[in-house]
Amino acid sequence: MSINIDNIKANKGEKKTGFLTVAEMPTGTVDLPITIINGTKSGPILVITAGVHGCEYPGIRGAQIIAREIKASELTGALIIVHNVNVPGFVHQTAFYNPFDVTNLNRIWPGDLESGGFYGAGSISHLIANTVYEKVQKKATHYIDLHGGDLPEDCPHFSACKMSGDSEVDDVSRAMVKYSLAKYIMTATISPGISRTTTDSAAKLKIPNVLHEAGRAGLLEKEKATKTAEAVRNIMKYLGMIEGKPIEPSKQIKIGSGVAIRAKHGGFFESFVEAGDIVSEGQTIGKIYNVFGETVEEVKAPKDGVILIVGIRPPKCAGDSLYNINDVVN
Ligand SMILES: [Zn+2]
Repeated sequence: MSINIDNIKANKGEKKTGFLTVAEMPTGTVDLPITIINGTKSGPILVITAGVHGCEYPGIRGAQIIAREIKASELTGALIIVHNVNVPGFVHQTAFYNPFDVTNLNRIWPGDLESGGFYGAGSISHLIANTVYEKVQKKATHYIDLHGGDLPEDCPHFSACKMSGDSEVDDVSRAMVKYSLAKYIMTATISPGISRTTTDSAAKLKIPNVLHEAGRAGLLEKEKATKTAEAVRNIMKYLGMIEGKPIEPSKQIKIGSGVAIRAKHGGFFESFVEAGDIVSEGQTIGKIYNVFGETVEEVKAPKDGVILIVGIRPPKCAGDSLYNINDVVN
């Protein structure tokens, strides 16, 4: 059976690239680059999205590596890759947001095209999210969203999946997270309210899913891109899409729920810990100085846990994110 996404069509045994038009601007269109690899044998349909956050380059590069190396003749099932979901953010190099409507695609997924749903409904980010959701994500039997440490953040190598409530689906999600070979792994329930992510949508569609994260500060570090490609490759082995036994992870740390720590004062932030560090309750993990260098805030860990995200850019307004600290489960 052929796989069609608008005018991109891949018959069995074919690899095709092309662009999916998702929105119109005053001067042209927003077009998302897509690779379809349609294997010779029937099997899983793995959908991969990258660049939902436009400056998370290890995710984008990892997807490119996989798109180039996988051969249709050696593939069981099909692989569909959306190389850059947030094309405007990629081009303009804006962290997290689509600069056209200052919207985080990973908080409004799968888009709301009805006016009045909530602020901003129907805008260009909603069009992008909804088009990818309807025309690509819904084709998936399995789904991976590749991230990679946007401009203001430092993240350790971690993977997370969203639980669907269907135990068979959730067992596959857990296995996909395990075979991503990430150091830190997490299972989570669907985010409530407005926190609507790509993997929330996958879970609601009962599609086994993984969010994979490796990277920092909007850098393309080869090691992080390599880990990203290795995660996808190993998951594809687990799913029986390519030859070979998946690598068993040597040691993974399960993490639980987290707290966000925000700046109480505006100033210049210095972190004393890095992403992936284990901290104890009460430990001084950073300081905020005023413009003259006097300490205005000592930041202490409110609980034991692992530093999952550091907001590494020093200038902070009161309320800006400094850290996410998550429980260590094992
Ligand atoms: Zn991200």
